[in-house]
Parts: sequence; C-alpha cells; structure tokens
Amino acid sequence: MAAIDQPAGTTTQRAQQAQRAHHAQSAQRMDKTAAHRVVIVGGGVGGLGLATRLSESLGRAGLAQIVLVDRWPTHFWKPLLHEAASGQLDPATHQLQYAVQAQRHGFEFEQGELTELNRAERHITLSALHDADGREILPSRQIAFDTLVLSMGSVTQYFGVPGAA
Ligand SMILES: Cc1cc2nc3c(=O)[nH]c(=O)nc-3n(C[C@H](O)[C@H](O)[C@H](O)COP(=O)(O)OP(=O)(O)OC[C@H]3O[C@@H](n4cnc5c(N)ncnc54)[C@H](O)[C@@H]3O)c2cc1C
Repeated sequence: MAAIDQPAGTTTQRAQQAQRAHHAQSAQRMDKTAAHRVVIVGGGVGGLGLATRLSESLGRAGLAQIVLVDRWPTHFWKPLLHEAASGQLDPATHQLQYAVQAQRHGFEFEQGELTELNRAERHITLSALHDADGREILPSRQIAFDTLVLSMGSVTQYFGVPGAA
C-alpha cells in the first residue's frame, strides 16, 4: 500500500491555511486540465490509499487527475478510536490532514459531503462547507468525473452485542 504521511508537528492553524490554499489551487487546476479525471469519494484507508497510489502512478505520468473527496478535513485510523476514546492518545497528533497529503502526493482534495450523483451528466454534488460558527466557507459545488470511485465505508455489524453500538 502507498505511504500515508503523518503531519509531523502540524498545527490546526497551519493545516487550515494549507487547506484554504489547496482549495484555491485545486479549483484553478480543475478548470484548466483536460486529463482523465478520477474522483474518489471517501478518504478512509481505502480511498486515501487509492488516491495516494494513483497520483504517484497515473498522476505523475500525466495520464489522470486524481481528486479525493471527504466530508471531513482529516483522516483518522479507526482501529485507534478506542485509544482516543479512553484518552490514551491525542487524536490531533495521529490524524492526517487530507490537504497536506494531497500537496505532498499531487492529488486534489475537495472537502464536502456527497449529496447527489448524476451518472448521466457524470458529475457529483457536494454540500456547502461551513466553519465552526456556521459561516459558509465554500458553496455547494459540482465536480465532474470521468471515473468515479465510491469508497465511503460501510455500516458496522455489531452482531447484537449489548452496548457495542
Ligand atoms: C473501532 C474500530 C476498530 C477497528 N479495528 C480494526 C482492526 O484492528 N483491523 C482491521 O483490519 N480493521 C479494523 N476496523 C475496520 C477498519 O477500520 C475498516 O475496515 C476500514 O476503516 C474501512 O475503510 P474504508 O476506507 O472502506 O471506509 P472508512 O474508513 O469508513 O472511510 C469512509 C470515508 O468516507 C467518508 N464519507 C462517508 N460518506 C461520505 C459522503 N456522503 N460524502 C463524503 N465523504 C463521505 C467518511 O468521512 C470516511 O472518511 C476497525 C473499525 C473500527 C470502527
């Protein structure tokens, strides 16, 4: 699997700046390129690994433009959730900023929730993005794709274990 870099020493403020800069660069590049566009929705271990790997191969060769979409700005490896929940580790130091990974590996990152898929016109719609105070940062957007990968995880099976959910 492709390497997923950890954001050593990245502060929230620096990450937000990187994210804003990346959104701006991303919008410009998406208007200009005519490369085959692969849009991957879901930045879990599946989608994030795929975006990183494809941008290192097809992206670097100029054969495709890779766009990763997630509703959140950061990835957190779920098997560590119980350690975060029990206070044994600080989630902030173990999460990965999608914008940072995108800049390092050459893919685009678009934050937003997938709300609509138009297969006939080959585009998806993302919800508007708001800050912690409810102010709109980015409006609802449409993203065109040539190839779409839905990697949005699944529903956990708790096997009826009391308290597990
Ligand atoms: C507590 C816990 C412990 C685990 N321990 C292990 C373990 O020890 N070993 C192991 O192999 N597996 C383990 N797993 C399972 C493992 O974490 C999952 O199999 C894996 O994370 C699935 O990856 P994924 O990329 O398919 O989906 P996910 O990791 O679920 O990622 C889906 C992504 O899609 C995004 N998304 C979803 N809907 C939308 C939408 N509408 N618009 C935009 N983005 C969206 C989400 O924000 C998320 O980032 C564990 C899971 C949990 C919850």
